[in-house]
Amino acid sequence: MPSLPPSQHLAETLLTTQINTCNGCPARWSGLNTAHCAGCHVTFTGPSAFDRHRVKSTCATPAEIGLKSADRAYPCFGYPMRDDALSFFDGLGIAG
Ligand SMILES: [Zn+2]
Ligand SMILES: [Zn+2]
Repeated sequence: MPSLPPSQHLAETLLTTQINTCNGCPARWSGLNTAHCAGCHVTFTGPSAFDRHRVKSTCATPAEIGLKSADRAYPCFGYPMRDDALSFFDGLGIAG
């Protein structure tokens, strides 16, 4: 049974471990849902955490909106619970 050609294997590895960078700061992050703000240059674990830090068209700090460090290899903030669980609560309008 033939295995994947090395080039294809490499492409799949890069796709799943893509490192994103910012033009305006030295931040690096990975993950399809991870969101980096071009305004305050804070990285968030997902779109819902990112949306929450945008308050009245300005950027709130993670501490102001109750976000915690996600303990990743790079600075990244998210809810002290699973991001997808929070989206569920957001839908119910009882978040926070
Ligand atoms: Zn921001
Ligand atoms: Zn940045």
